Amino acid sequence: MEEIKNNHCSIDILAASERLSRALQYRTISFENTDQINKSEFLSFRTFLEEAFPNVFEKFKIELINEMSILLKWEGIGHNAGSILLMAHMDVAPVEVGTENDWRYPPFSGELSDGYIWGRGALDMKSHLMGILEAAEELLKNDFKPQNTIYLAFGHDEEIGGRNGNAHIAAYLASKGIALSAVLDEGGFILKNAVSAVTKPVALIGVAEKGNTTLELISSAAGGHSSIPPRHTAIGKLSAAIYRLERKQFRTKLDGAAKQFFNAIIPEMSLIKRIVFKNLWLFKPLILRVLTKSETTNALIRNTVAVTMIEGGVKENVLPQQAKAIINFRILPGESINGIKEKVEKIAGRDGIKVKIKENSFNPSGVSSSSSQEFRTISKVVKSVFSETIAAPYLTVGLTDSRYYQKISSQIYRFSPIEISMEDLNTIHGVNEKISMEAYEKLLRFFYLLVEEF
Ligand SMILES: [Zn+2]
Repeated sequence: MEEIKNNHCSIDILAASERLSRALQYRTISFENTDQINKSEFLSFRTFLEEAFPNVFEKFKIELINEMSILLKWEGIGHNAGSILLMAHMDVAPVEVGTENDWRYPPFSGELSDGYIWGRGALDMKSHLMGILEAAEELLKNDFKPQNTIYLAFGHDEEIGGRNGNAHIAAYLASKGIALSAVLDEGGFILKNAVSAVTKPVALIGVAEKGNTTLELISSAAGGHSSIPPRHTAIGKLSAAIYRLERKQFRTKLDGAAKQFFNAIIPEMSLIKRIVFKNLWLFKPLILRVLTKSETTNALIRNTVAVTMIEGGVKENVLPQQAKAIINFRILPGESINGIKEKVEKIAGRDGIKVKIKENSFNPSGVSSSSSQEFRTISKVVKSVFSETIAAPYLTVGLTDSRYYQKISSQIYRFSPIEISMEDLNTIHGVNEKISMEAYEKLLRFFYLLVEEF
């Protein structure tokens, strides 16, 4: 792999941090109850972006999609060059009611303190959004012209499913016959101690993402008085079904994106572990057993089951006529929503329990190549900016808006170029979300070099 010689980027980190701080002060919050969404915050956020990045908004072609989402186009100068899409969402998750006072600084203050920029969206993902724009603005000032055409897509409703934002942007690009040679969206971070066997930081570049489906299990029974009950009530039958599902679990398997991930980190392991992993045919059952011990690695090798809601019964002495459970499943690439439903019907469907697929289900994505030119470019830039870091293909377990682009691109990568501790990772959607200025400076350099390389 050819190295990047001059990884210099001239963005002033102090000024950039102040701009990020201002970005965090806009309450561009997505609420499940869409009546609560404050549209004018999104519109003033856009005005702020236009003022903060005058060159970008003057020279790029700007299109508003569904009024709130923004699509920007930077025309490439290369002959037969491709098109690259960089994504980020403008909206943030709400601050949970009752946790406001647990924040060191108010969540929409954008406080610059202790070497950190604090606020909702600092990690997920206004830093990413601002970083892309900072890089583009700086490159324009330096008179840079990309070979490939570069699109920037900033959705406004990722946190509630992206149906009005990126779903429409993707459909719009498809209607114009545009195919993308690569897409980069949020995803894995750069983690230390992500796997106990590896000491170097690992950049987790999602080459696939798990599917998501929620099933409703409905158990029905005749009602009546609790003084003459049957042996099992609707609630009892439902509980037994849930118990069977949790005990049984889905079969483990090590292939696709998860296998690529382990292949990438094997060379960094100790000799013993290297031998074990290299002889997968021999040690596979052992490895799978070890991987199921941690919730993080367990999620990489099987469809997961999470019983999240339950409901039933109206009165202490009335037999319930119905009990319901809501169960969320995350599905490995190569499998399907219908496959999950069939399996659940087999395990839990006894006693007349009905299984229904809830809306907002998505099949898993395809697996993008980890040997493509674009993946190599991302890895090269990672190695240049983040020293001693391994770039590894990964399976993203959460949903991203990038899934909407599958029809127009087969190379979709999900990566957040931020060095972060496991502890700070938990502040996403939680309390005290923040990014260090040091991490932000590297993020800026990442996007600057990435665009230059593209
Ligand atoms: Zn996000």
